[in-house]
Amino acid sequence: MARSATLALLIALSAWHVAAETLTYTLEPLPKTGGIRVEFTWATSGRGGSLMGVSPRWGNITDVPALLGDFVVQGAKAVRRDGARWIVEHDRGASFTVRYEVRPPRRTFDWSDTHLPITTHSFFHGMGNAFLLVPESGGDVPREFDVILRWKLPAGWRSACSWGVGRSVGARVAATDVRHSVYLAGELVIEKSEQDGRSVTVAMVDQFGFRAPRFLALAHRVIAAQCEFMGEKSFPEFVITAIPVGAPLPDGNTRASGSGLYHSFALYLAPRSQLNDAVEHLFAHELFHYWNGRLLGAAKPEELVYWWIEGFTDYYALRILHDSRMWGDELFLKWLNRHIRDYYANPAIGESNEVIGRDFWKRRDTAGEMAYQRGLMLAVRWHALARRAGVADGLDALFLAMIQRARQGAFELTNDAIRTVGAERLGRWFAAEFDQYVIGAATIDLPEDALTPAFRGRIARIHEFDLGFDRERSLKSKTAVGVVKGSAAARAGLREGDKLVGWKLHGDPDQKIALDVLRGENTRKISYFPRGESRSVIQFAPAGAKDAAQPADPE
Ligand SMILES: [Zn+2]
Repeated sequence: MARSATLALLIALSAWHVAAETLTYTLEPLPKTGGIRVEFTWATSGRGGSLMGVSPRWGNITDVPALLGDFVVQGAKAVRRDGARWIVEHDRGASFTVRYEVRPPRRTFDWSDTHLPITTHSFFHGMGNAFLLVPESGGDVPREFDVILRWKLPAGWRSACSWGVGRSVGARVAATDVRHSVYLAGELVIEKSEQDGRSVTVAMVDQFGFRAPRFLALAHRVIAAQCEFMGEKSFPEFVITAIPVGAPLPDGNTRASGSGLYHSFALYLAPRSQLNDAVEHLFAHELFHYWNGRLLGAAKPEELVYWWIEGFTDYYALRILHDSRMWGDELFLKWLNRHIRDYYANPAIGESNEVIGRDFWKRRDTAGEMAYQRGLMLAVRWHALARRAGVADGLDALFLAMIQRARQGAFELTNDAIRTVGAERLGRWFAAEFDQYVIGAATIDLPEDALTPAFRGRIARIHEFDLGFDRERSLKSKTAVGVVKGSAAARAGLREGDKLVGWKLHGDPDQKIALDVLRGENTRKISYFPRGESRSVIQFAPAGAKDAAQPADPE
């Protein structure tokens, strides 16, 4: 009995193996033109027709097919294009090959175009979603493929992608994972190490204020902390890439953004950036998408649950950094309080999930950020309310229940599912909360004891940052430009057209701005708090701490 079952299983497995189809990609970055040449061969089995496509749009790229040129198909009987998809007729079980060249409109990475596939003079970086043709699974097209990737590279270049490091790599992956992967080649530093059975590789362009081994050590710590929290037993081999974007920032300042992808994380950083808490926050966020966003995926249109996917990811990223003691109270509160302030200052505070979804990329700083902020606020609030209602694990009871469903098989996150499971796990109070804040987009209050016993909330008067003149144009021309009437800068004496001979600028409303202004022969010192509107919001501090002294207003 046991033997025949084994035999049947073996036969089933080998039949399944024969059915596997092979995709072979050859990528040739072109540092002379800025583009990349792609060759894609699809060895099909059994069918006489296949469907393939590129993403219609991705992140801040509005038209991915427009990037592809010189499109040639060999070995097919007929090819018909339908938008971002191609329908290929071929002999049964044939192999066919597609060649095309990707031609991005830019040669260098800047902050508005981080998602573009670009070959600079020293490296290529692109995400599959932004330039790779992949099979459209479904019908008799399989979900997974044996995928081979070969790089044709200039001398001295190395390469890595989300599922393999080196010039020639292969893996069994789904077509969607080929898309949700990062592809990087160039004059790279590549470091790999293993800890607690988890393998992590860092592949980066070496232009930052830190070395790869430090980044690798940080990655291991965050991964270990999150795996422990999530009870994760089978974390995959993980790849982290980092590329420089834009110009170096003054005073070693950091600017960073990133994309959480298939078994990987793509980081964008200003050159010379340090590995600071902003990068740790970003990495912890993107890593947590391994569970919240990928293992637990959203039903389409996924924008409707961005508040959960992005906001809960921010919440757990911060909480696990703090609970694991990677971060002390000070860093945890700095970021939590900042997110709370940004939530109340966001003009999109009352917008529905539908509007946020529609405008997520168009108004990234307001509608886009609201998804993160609303989810984080709700997580803090519901964790407190659930514990008050007698649920010892608080919000985790709901979150881990959703993850559990995703682990058990086909389950997609929807607002309906969250509402139902929330009421089951956290209590009947949850449904009304959900309707009021998630559906109704009402402004969210946090109880002062939301983070008891460690922290206590207090209402504080918070000023919005407002420099009072145009920073960029003024620094460029070394002249005060765009001085706003009635602003703190104007009240401190700054006038349009003042010659600037010295300055100390920053983004903190509670620190003074200092300017040296030349008028005629005289240099005059002007200093002021760069404050605009103010509002009262809750801010958390260690329980027992005295009220933080607010810096005195100079006026
Ligand atoms: Zn995210």
